[in-house]
Amino acid sequence: MRLPILLLALTLTLPACGSDLLPTDGTVFLDPSLPTAARQGALEALAEWNATGATQLTYTDDAYPCDAVITFGGKSRGFAGWTSTRTAGDGRRQPPRISLYLTTVPYYKSVALHELGHAMGLPHAHTGIMADGSHQECVDRGALDSLGRDGFPTCAE
Ligand SMILES: [Zn+2]
Repeated sequence: MRLPILLLALTLTLPACGSDLLPTDGTVFLDPSLPTAARQGALEALAEWNATGATQLTYTDDAYPCDAVITFGGKSRGFAGWTSTRTAGDGRRQPPRISLYLTTVPYYKSVALHELGHAMGLPHAHTGIMADGSHQECVDRGALDSLGRDGFPTCAE
């Protein structure tokens, strides 16, 4: 039996705090809590986004400064990934926080592709990487259009 995987995003928008999204040329902190396979999936997802030419995302092993965080959420609670944007109590902007969860089948690359899309502001779509539960491992035209960026999709279309 295959565990259904849901991809969810929680976005708390506080307009007074300015942009709380990952810029397309942002730096992503890979938390040391990530298991090797999850870290590899995250790195592959960053490379896949960049291969479109629409983003120039880089990764860092230094927590500060960064524009987004990818961390490990541990055992899946019914979903494979989660992205939250939040603001500290004093109003300071905090970077989007992506959690990758341990699932029966580790779709880390496809989950990271999807969650990076959320971190850059993309909503869910009916098809492609931004579809809820997507296992797609390449960036589609729809995602690039939704991002409002020119670029070449990495999926054969
Ligand atoms: Zn989602």
